[in-house]
Amino acid sequence: MSFTTLGLSDKIIQAITERGYAIPTPIQLQAIPAVLAGGDLLAGAQTGTGKTASFTLPILHRLSNKHIKEAFNERPPVRALILVPTRELAVQVEESVRDYGKYLKLSSMIMIGGVNINPQISRLKKPVDILVATPGRLLDHVQQKTLDLSHIEILVLDEADRMLDMGFIRDIKKILALLPRQRQNLLFSATFSDEIRTLTSTLLAKPAIIEA
Ligand code: AMP
Repeated sequence: MSFTTLGLSDKIIQAITERGYAIPTPIQLQAIPAVLAGGDLLAGAQTGTGKTASFTLPILHRLSNKHIKEAFNERPPVRALILVPTRELAVQVEESVRDYGKYLKLSSMIMIGGVNINPQISRLKKPVDILVATPGRLLDHVQQKTLDLSHIEILVLDEADRMLDMGFIRDIKKILALLPRQRQNLLFSATFSDEIRTLTSTLLAKPAIIEA
């Protein structure tokens, strides 16, 4: 099985081939078709399994197939939100998004705490298709009214168990309340506690369930 047979576009295949990926990992084999199909996904995945590409590749494919910029006169809305527990992971995920999407006309942004907020506010004045964020800083932007999440088409909770361990559940609930009801939800977690199960049951609708 190759990335082409999974249904990804040529421009994405070109970028990952240049990166040296020839064969999809087990999680990618399962997650990519499920995300391309548009439904919700619950994935049990450790780091090192190729999980980042398993959601970023099909998200890039879906967003690039459906451009909506024409409908917005001014700044187009943020379309995909990837929430991660740590700054380091945000940096890694956003780098992957940029690299895998380098032949596409999509833009991404990283939004993390511990750095000055003003350059982020300036960046938000330009188009952002894919936002990779940690919850606290994202809510700072919401409070300052510099970020509109009302057009999010795809939400990812990456390393959801770590986010809960770090005490982000209240922030996550606040963020979920700001998103449109109609959207695709993807949740990745290495472990499944009762707290994660409660979150998945409220967040995900008839999800595809995969494990790698
Ligand atoms: P992750 O689990 O997303 O942190 O990825 C672990 C590592 O595997 C990263 O260095 C990726 O660049 C690499 N990787 C992801 N998918 C593939 C693939 N299909 N073939 C080779 N390497 C990959």
